[in-house]
Amino acid sequence: MTSNTAPLKKLLAQPRRIVITTHHKPDGDAMGSSLGLYHYLIQQGHHVHVITPTDYPDFLAWMPGNGEVIIYTENTELSTRLANEAEIIFCLDFNNLSRINEFGEVVRATSAVKVMIDHHLEPEDFDDYRHWSINACASAQLVYDFIVNLLHNKALINKDVATCLYTGIMTDSASFRLPNTTSDVHRIAAELIDLGAVNWHIHEMVYNNLSENRLRFLGHCLSEKLEVLYEYNTAIIAVTKQELEQYDVATGDTEGVVNYGLSIEGIHLAAFIVERTDKVKLSLRSKGEFPANEICKKYFNGGGHRNAAGGTSTDGLEAVIQQFKSILPEYKKLLVQ
Ligand code: 5GP
Ligand code: MN
Repeated sequence: MTSNTAPLKKLLAQPRRIVITTHHKPDGDAMGSSLGLYHYLIQQGHHVHVITPTDYPDFLAWMPGNGEVIIYTENTELSTRLANEAEIIFCLDFNNLSRINEFGEVVRATSAVKVMIDHHLEPEDFDDYRHWSINACASAQLVYDFIVNLLHNKALINKDVATCLYTGIMTDSASFRLPNTTSDVHRIAAELIDLGAVNWHIHEMVYNNLSENRLRFLGHCLSEKLEVLYEYNTAIIAVTKQELEQYDVATGDTEGVVNYGLSIEGIHLAAFIVERTDKVKLSLRSKGEFPANEICKKYFNGGGHRNAAGGTSTDGLEAVIQQFKSILPEYKKLLVQ
């Protein structure tokens, strides 16, 4: 769904004060789409700030423009002032203001024109302008489409824009593997390479940049913590706060662990359950028609995509594991088909 572009185009015809923000614990698409749009907008003389609600992993902290990113939790006053002064706030890769924590109410209260560019289900109605499609494999794909097909400014996709957008598309499509990796996605990726994205280098920076701790933590999860429930074609990995401390696990170090469960033959649903300081966080991944987001929404105050969803609970780790297992019989038909 795309709103009428004309008023936004007119607004962007003059240099504006712009804030770009994205979801809490930003992933590759959140950072890639935000910084990609940033590098596009600054070429037109806009005053642009990228503000993330929280910090993000080191394997994303290399993209061009990274040094300019403002983290709300570390610069609350500055972030609030910039949001209040902004004429336009771009909301990338999320569609509900609760996904940006306390910064959400700051953004809601501003008089800025709010532009949502996103590919998640069930958008909240807080925006003035929307470029939204659940068929896009990444918000970075929608930013590309926004620049090229709505603003007709492909000439402004330089190496920096291309690098960031390629990163978003690569990470959110799980390296061009998920079902929404259409031929169009490959064509866009090819264009971005032609425009300066160095695909192999981006892959190196994101995937071959692990700390030793992270690799050992993954090994621990796989050898000691993996539980496979063949009766439900489900794999679970659950880790305690102590284990996170033992391996000195930093932001982003747990990302991707959940996918290993799904790589077992016949497994349709994988859960990664982790005990954080104030809550337990669940990440679910599924194959095919299985609605991982439905479980997260119904039982764990969360949501997401059909095949990649997340949620939280204020119950203890053991209770959450038991609750998750107790839900499986309800879905047995879908899981064992
Ligand atoms: P992850 O497992 O990587 O944290 O999240 C996977 C996807 O699930 C995210 O891209 C996001 O769409 C969704 N998601 C994760 N946590 C939450 C949550 O607490 N609430 C909602 N609504 N969606 C979530
Ligand atoms: Mn995304």
